[in-house]
Amino acid sequence: MINVLFAALPERWVTYEAPLTKAFNDLGLDVDLRIDFAPHEVDYIVYAPNSPLQDFTPYTRCKAVLNLWAGVENIISNPTLTQPLARMVDHGLSQGMREWVTGHALRHHLGMDLHIKGQDGEWRDYVPPLADDRRVTVLGLGELGMACAKALHGLGFPVTGWSRTQKEAEGITCLCGEEGLGKALSTADILVLLLPNTAATENLIDADALAAMPKGAFLINPGRGPLIDDEALLAALDTGQIAHATLDVFRVEPLPVDHPFWAHPNVTVTPHIASETRPSSASQIVAENVRRSENGEPLRFLADRSAGY
Ligand code: NDP
Repeated sequence: MINVLFAALPERWVTYEAPLTKAFNDLGLDVDLRIDFAPHEVDYIVYAPNSPLQDFTPYTRCKAVLNLWAGVENIISNPTLTQPLARMVDHGLSQGMREWVTGHALRHHLGMDLHIKGQDGEWRDYVPPLADDRRVTVLGLGELGMACAKALHGLGFPVTGWSRTQKEAEGITCLCGEEGLGKALSTADILVLLLPNTAATENLIDADALAAMPKGAFLINPGRGPLIDDEALLAALDTGQIAHATLDVFRVEPLPVDHPFWAHPNVTVTPHIASETRPSSASQIVAENVRRSENGEPLRFLADRSAGY
């Protein structure tokens, strides 16, 4: 019997118990899945951020912690966590992000607000450029960033991507390193942030970065709030350097009601819904990693503690 502890807030247990049970059964794994165990009995921990479990020290038998979210910033530097940590890479997560990012990019590209918000009897015959003439930059070319970069390229946008290590993708200009960042920002008519929250990425989008973008650019952030210097962004919105920011993630969530982003006419706030881990497909990823571990195979999607993601 393999003992799997589900360590997340109770409402998640309601949505995950059945799909996880099914996924373990489908792989023929003899699993006892529960929300309470004596720590020394636990073989694997399925973990979600905001879980009350913060001290991993008593989990002496635990072979791996399997995170239900793609971002691991809440757990990766926990000094009590010595077990391998896998993050979530899931078809549903990628598809949801692709749809959210392309939807918001097209909103800005096509100038949809002009007609949706401005239906006032005036015939405004603004014709948007073709996607060929709107350059998009995606910072972060991982599972989600690359999926979005490819989808945007497929729509006809010239796409530049930037990552820590050099990537290659047909039709996408792939850059890396500090010099690469300057180039990537200089062609960002639309900038999409899909970087993790690490010490190296915090405040990456500061006043200098915003000034390096073309005037009137659009910013779309489904990555993490701390990637952006909020004050610098508000200043850039006020001067028109940034025409509009669509923000899904924030330093403090829920975004406090008195935060200026809520009231700013050129900011769209969405409540961290760009993409959600889907219980059915994510459960299969978790179960497959348990199967691998039990068979002595390497785990998939291990987080790199030295890189912080
Ligand atoms: P990955 O780990 O697959 O990709 C991260 C990318 O960022 C990689 O290309 C990586 O480079 C790059 N990167 C990391 N650090 C740096 C750096 N210092 N300089 C340059 N590039 C860097 O993550 P995912 O694509 O799966 O997810 C990305 C983020 O999206 C998550 O960390 C999370 O914060 C966010 N997210 C948001 C959701 C939402 O609903 N809003 C839902 C899910 C995730 P390299 O390829 O060289 O390693």
